[in-house]
Amino acid sequence: MQKQSELYRGKAKTVHTTDDPNFLILEFRDDTSAFDGERIEQLARKGMVNNRFNHFIMEKLTAAGVPTQLERLLSDTESLVKNLDMIPVECVVRNLAAGSLVRRLGVEEGMALTPPTFELFLKNDELHDPMINESHAIAFGWATAEQLAEMKRLTLKVNEVLQALFDEAGMLLVDYKLEFGLFNGEIVLGDEFSPDGCRLWDKETREKLDKDRFRQGLGGVVEAYEEVAKRLGVPLPA
Ligand code: 5GP
Repeated sequence: MQKQSELYRGKAKTVHTTDDPNFLILEFRDDTSAFDGERIEQLARKGMVNNRFNHFIMEKLTAAGVPTQLERLLSDTESLVKNLDMIPVECVVRNLAAGSLVRRLGVEEGMALTPPTFELFLKNDELHDPMINESHAIAFGWATAEQLAEMKRLTLKVNEVLQALFDEAGMLLVDYKLEFGLFNGEIVLGDEFSPDGCRLWDKETREKLDKDRFRQGLGGVVEAYEEVAKRLGVPLPA
């Protein structure tokens, strides 16, 4: 598969076209951004770690019956993916209270959420990804009711699979964000799953092992991502 032109440059990934319109190349860069791109830093090895981490997780999800866009790893920082028609709605599941939920509702960080919450956000940096509900998504034509139901079903299925996976590796899956798209009319999981888009805490100490280390200036960001990868058995080059 030949890489052609740059289609889109996001905050942490670049999307390239290929000689086959059904496939794209995702390039994971070392750029790390927070606060809708207000703060951007280069963190050495992050692109490689996230690319390999994402590949590992997507393979687990595919095996569990979740359709994903991932085809195969191409290099340390690149993966071949299906060209999805992306739905501009982010699906967030929370098992423990953190982040914007704590700010919005004034609850204590770390409070267990039973059952887990499911939220929708509009993917729009200028508007700072506002929270929306199903009726907004349907009324504005971002997704149909059937598509939203399938996105919710798959997002909760991902929770079952990944909560168990992280638990066995001594971590709590606090929350995560997923994005979906359409491929031949089917809802398929797109974007990435990495410590950039989820919260992971050590099960015993509740130490943060995710992008909150960057957002909160705690340092040791890539070291934490590599620790998560090591605990899961994700193969990383030295
Ligand atoms: P919160 O709403 O608490 O800011 O985020 C909830 C979860 O979704 C966190 O795991 C966070 O990393 C992820 N998330 C939500 N929006 C985004 C986003 O625009 N980019 C990334 N990388 N993660 C997001």
